[in-house]
Amino acid sequence: MLGRAWGCAVKGVSGLTVAVECDHHRGLPCIDIVGLPDAGVKEAGSRVRPALRNMGFEFPMARLTINLAPAWEHKLGVGLDLPMAISVLMASGQLPEACTERSALMGELALDGRVLPVRGVLPGCIAVASQGLKSVVVPNGNYGEARLVPGLTVVPVGDLRQAARFLESGEIPPEPHGPPGPHGAPGVSGSGACEMSATAGSGLDFVHVLGQQAAVRAMEVALAGGHHIVLIGPPGTGKTMLAMCAPSALPPLSDDEWVEAASIRSLSGDGLSEAVSRVRPFRQPNRTTTLAGMLGGGSPPVPGEVTLAHKGLLFLDEFAQFAPGVISALSEPMEKRNVRLIRGGSPVSFPADFILVASTNPCACGMRGHRSEECSCTPSILASHRRRLSGPTADRIDIWVDVPRREAAAVSGFEHGASTSELRKRIAAARARQAERYGRPGSTNSHATADALPQLLRRSSKAAAVARAAADRFHLSARGFHSVIKVARTVADLDGQADIGEEHVLEALGYRACRFGGVER
Ligand SMILES: [Zn+2]
Repeated sequence: MLGRAWGCAVKGVSGLTVAVECDHHRGLPCIDIVGLPDAGVKEAGSRVRPALRNMGFEFPMARLTINLAPAWEHKLGVGLDLPMAISVLMASGQLPEACTERSALMGELALDGRVLPVRGVLPGCIAVASQGLKSVVVPNGNYGEARLVPGLTVVPVGDLRQAARFLESGEIPPEPHGPPGPHGAPGVSGSGACEMSATAGSGLDFVHVLGQQAAVRAMEVALAGGHHIVLIGPPGTGKTMLAMCAPSALPPLSDDEWVEAASIRSLSGDGLSEAVSRVRPFRQPNRTTTLAGMLGGGSPPVPGEVTLAHKGLLFLDEFAQFAPGVISALSEPMEKRNVRLIRGGSPVSFPADFILVASTNPCACGMRGHRSEECSCTPSILASHRRRLSGPTADRIDIWVDVPRREAAAVSGFEHGASTSELRKRIAAARARQAERYGRPGSTNSHATADALPQLLRRSSKAAAVARAAADRFHLSARGFHSVIKVARTVADLDGQADIGEEHVLEALGYRACRFGGVER
């Protein structure tokens, strides 16, 4: 007899429905699992046998072959334990045939038969819904997450017996107790019901950043065009505050972006409460973060910081203090907007479309450029600090801006600048122009490829002449020249102008000039 149940695996940040088939035939009792299982899936055999016995089911004294289809996709994770156990029950006649036709199952089995929560339930449920299945059996601990997907009957189970009873009789166990599921969830095809929470953010406001109007303006340009930015200044000048104000100035996540962000959080094993609101992700890894922590890793692969910051901000405070290997590894996701990992011979790709906000001291002691105090760095220490801020990753940063120290007396005399809500309106308008230009929601000038650049800046315009003269004068590389045009386009978008003007190019050049007090590359 053949048993057949639907399960889910993960592929990148998407779910993959897997048909789990169990064949039961004479021979020495053992379980063979075929269909590219990873190590965690292969071990399922050792969990399924005691789990079935401890729940009072019979483990067939026969040779069992479990096939995971489609055969060409690698199956990652432990969520396939439950459908495998169910397929064994069907193959051995302990569950009726065809009882699993309209349901998928996810969950890890403990040896005593309890069903334990797994990662990636949200993308799994999205795949189940798109396959046209009607219900999904999930561990109690994943109930809140599974309910975010509309159109599915979610069946929470605590053990294998409850799952079998549902398949046999349709009896749905009571809702699990414990922390309430995420209420007010927008749902996968939601209508932006959580927009208000997106504007609440951290409670910090750009209006509270005093005396740093140039830096606030640079931040506005970076957020509007999706450009990476570095804030350079001594300690205590508000660099961290500038970065922390940023998420609430960005427009809330769109429906599609929300699904991606929530799926990433589901895979990382983090709670979904933050992802349910539409605030853009803000990640602030500390300087001891390893390469695997930054890019992702492990088996099955877990997303790293660059993926957790997808469609949001990655804030690296004291950028120069991170391990050089970690910094240089950022250049690839910055360029390609995704991360590719090879795990167990199979490539896994995670999205990583973030805005990098980095902060750094102007030198190792932090005092360089400050009038009243002297920098104590020796030339060799200065050179080493500069080396840490150069290389392929730094070359991909479009905006460099000084955040100088202000005397307290002077700060009290400064007028308030733009508030976060004013910035949010201007940024949203500029982003709407960019989405229209590139014909894709969420596209920004930073996404423009080299082929698109001639359309951004007409060759015959005065602005183009200014840009070319600056490129010659300061020996800008092709990448540097393109960066200036893209930033100038964003400045013009904020200005509501159809064409890039000279003043827009000059402002963009200014953001490169801040790099150690002179235009480089
Ligand atoms: Zn110094």
